[in-house]
Amino acid sequence: MEKIKMTTPLVEMDGDEMTRILWKMIKDELLIPYIDLKTEYYDLGLEHRNATDDQVTVDSALATKKYKVAVKCATITPNAARMEEYDLKEMWKSPNGTIRAILDGTVFRAPIVVKGIEPCVKNWKKPITIARHAYGDVYKGSEMKIPGAGKAELVYTAEDGTQTSELVHNFDGPGIIQGMHNLNSSIESFARSCFSYALDTKQDLWFATKDTISKKYDHTFKDIFQEIYDAEFDAKFKEAGIEYFYTLIDDAVARVMKSEGGYIWACKNYDGDVMSDMVSSAFGSLAMMTSVLVSPEGYYEYEAAHGTVQRHYYKHLKGEETSTNSVATIFAWTGALRKRGELDGNKELMEFADRLEKATIDTIEAGEMTKDLALITTIENPTVLSSGEFIKAIAKRL
Ligand code: NAP
Ligand code: MG
Repeated sequence: MEKIKMTTPLVEMDGDEMTRILWKMIKDELLIPYIDLKTEYYDLGLEHRNATDDQVTVDSALATKKYKVAVKCATITPNAARMEEYDLKEMWKSPNGTIRAILDGTVFRAPIVVKGIEPCVKNWKKPITIARHAYGDVYKGSEMKIPGAGKAELVYTAEDGTQTSELVHNFDGPGIIQGMHNLNSSIESFARSCFSYALDTKQDLWFATKDTISKKYDHTFKDIFQEIYDAEFDAKFKEAGIEYFYTLIDDAVARVMKSEGGYIWACKNYDGDVMSDMVSSAFGSLAMMTSVLVSPEGYYEYEAAHGTVQRHYYKHLKGEETSTNSVATIFAWTGALRKRGELDGNKELMEFADRLEKATIDTIEAGEMTKDLALITTIENPTVLSSGEFIKAIAKRL
């Protein structure tokens, strides 16, 4: 069989622990036999990040700006225990944080829906993709405990020294206050990433805030989204037959629970933090959740939403058999290959991505799956496969 040709490389970011083991199996069994795989390889494994003083992470993000599409394996974010385990020079920052800061993107998380792994919400038929704004609000807030009676104010001092103030509260006893901010530029790129991704995936976009209560803060989010939609996206959405829908956050939550799914839900930072865990756990498993970072300039970085599955890796090191789910990592590759194909006009590559996804889903729906899914499936008597056997079962169908 002749292998599928690629014209432009993908940026490949290798990672750590169990997902690094799966990474190689996926390439060897599911990709290299069929594709003349062209990648620019960056080793983001913790040892190599440490050896390069984390320069490799920065280089991989810059390469993503050059080639536009990257695929990333899960990586360790160092903590005190990892400092010792890997004898690190420094507690290097989270690679995802570093990459996101360079690409200035929004992360979209979507569940992979298969028959036999049923969402807890019985009317959810299609995936719900969560887009979480990743800057500001309470995550960059400053807070004070108010010890007793006194006046608390918000004060803005302009560069020329003029001051504007707003009363927060006249305290007559102890309490607490919090100041938080956001930037128009950050909200604008969040909005553009969401509208672009909705067009890309041909799904409606929902956005919600609490603008009736927060008439300046949240209302600014609402206004910026509407202005950008009207000026840049209205015609394109109509042409694609999709809709931009704004409502209040509590109304959005009620509608989400009653919906069939099949749309993107853009959330402010805190709402996204809370709602993404609700939506992902209700869809079944973290191992079935994909994640893509989309920059406002149109750069894409695909990955799995889960981590390096450390506990399974230690079993693997002891020579014990593991049953680690590789679906989200496979879908990171198919997402990247499909996008590469789309940008390069490479139809064969796009069709390969579709076939690999179908082979993966068909394998599970035929009752062959890893242990995490076997524990929650509605399919009777599923066959529990090891990490390697599962990938081989997909290869057979492919
Ligand atoms: P994790 O790797 O997501 O795993 C937590 C638990 O979830 C596992 O022990 C396993 O449960 C289950 N699980 C997750 N993915 C699975 C899969 N593919 N197949 C089967 N089970 C799966 O989170 P963690 O153990 O808290 O973090 C490990 C490392 O990952 C940390 O160093 C962290 O910094 C890093 N991390 C990286 C990313 C990223 O690169 N995007 C994201 C999150 C965490 P059982 O043990 O019960 O089987
Ligand atoms: Mg959270």
